[in-house]
Amino acid sequence: MEEGLRMTNPEPGVLAAVRRQHELRVLGVLSESGPTSRKNLEHATGLSRTTLSAIVGDLLRRSAVIELDPAPAGPGLSGRPTRILGINPSSGSALGINLGRGHLSACFVDYSGAIIASDSELIALDLDVNEKLLRATALVQSLAAAHGLSLNALLGVGVGISSMHPDPQASGQEPVDLAPLRALSTAPILWDHNIRISAMAEASRCLDQDLLYVSLSHGISCGILVGGTIARGGAGLAGELGHMCVDPDGPECWCGGRGCLERYLSIQNLLAEAARRGRSYSDIAEWTTAAHDGEPVAVELAAWAAELLGRAVANLTMLLDPQRIVLAGELAALGELLLEPLRRSLAGQRLDIRERRTTLAVSAFAAGAGSYGAAHMALSRWGSAAAPVSGGR
Ligand SMILES: [Zn+2]
Repeated sequence: MEEGLRMTNPEPGVLAAVRRQHELRVLGVLSESGPTSRKNLEHATGLSRTTLSAIVGDLLRRSAVIELDPAPAGPGLSGRPTRILGINPSSGSALGINLGRGHLSACFVDYSGAIIASDSELIALDLDVNEKLLRATALVQSLAAAHGLSLNALLGVGVGISSMHPDPQASGQEPVDLAPLRALSTAPILWDHNIRISAMAEASRCLDQDLLYVSLSHGISCGILVGGTIARGGAGLAGELGHMCVDPDGPECWCGGRGCLERYLSIQNLLAEAARRGRSYSDIAEWTTAAHDGEPVAVELAAWAAELLGRAVANLTMLLDPQRIVLAGELAALGELLLEPLRRSLAGQRLDIRERRTTLAVSAFAAGAGSYGAAHMALSRWGSAAAPVSGGR
């Protein structure tokens, strides 16, 4: 990684880091207070005139900021008005990348956190994580080109990674070779588990403080938000819902356990279960559609899946008392066929203390929560966007 840093940044590391901090300060003030004069910028950033001049000159050269005409001067004032500085609106402020299992996505957000452009693509399930990053880098380049977006004013880049249990707080080691991304942008990079990032995106959209975000896809995992903070655990392994035991006499799992939820409800295992029941579906979408159409085997399978999921979710609910539980991933397309039995399973819990207020829903995001969450994580860390959910380092 040191090699990559030197390659993409000709300045010695410390100097480059200081310069980057100054840049972020300038971009932060401009994004927070809007276009302003050099003099105001000097005051707001606390940078010396010489330093500010060098930083601004570079940002102008890279089209990260632009010069604008000030509002017309009031009556009685004369002289040529000094031009003011503003963020280039065609410059993304944060980039989010999701290196998912079976898919990639990328998303640019502006300084308010609104999505400017996003795209995704399907990939092979067994694609190596470094290969995923290369493909995602190409996706970012084509997305930027298609929307005329500059990468020069990026405050930061967030990367969500599946199945690697990356823990940014526990280890200095990067879980993926980030050199291709650093060649695109000098912006600082944050990474985390993509389901945790998706949970943060969901929470920031719906202003949740206590959320259980359950992702049901090729793997099963959950993001746990407690009091507005995402749980990572001591070694970054928090949220492995897929390896909760739902049947001690069940089949062995690669994790060393037995009867893990994922051994039944991963996409692969569900399709195998359907085949055992005499019905073959080409993919999960075919099954969920058949279930909504009332096809008996599909409906039975949905009820079976909901029963197993209910065992795990009921235990988690007893432990965490979330305000909201949301389902995401391909299986969430079952909608009420999953939600209704889950509600019944939770209603069966009778704590004498008080009535439980947990609500259940399908995720507010149709798709793209991972990359949006990653962009939001970068923006919350380095930008001025309101960040109700704490994430990142
Ligand atoms: Zn397991």
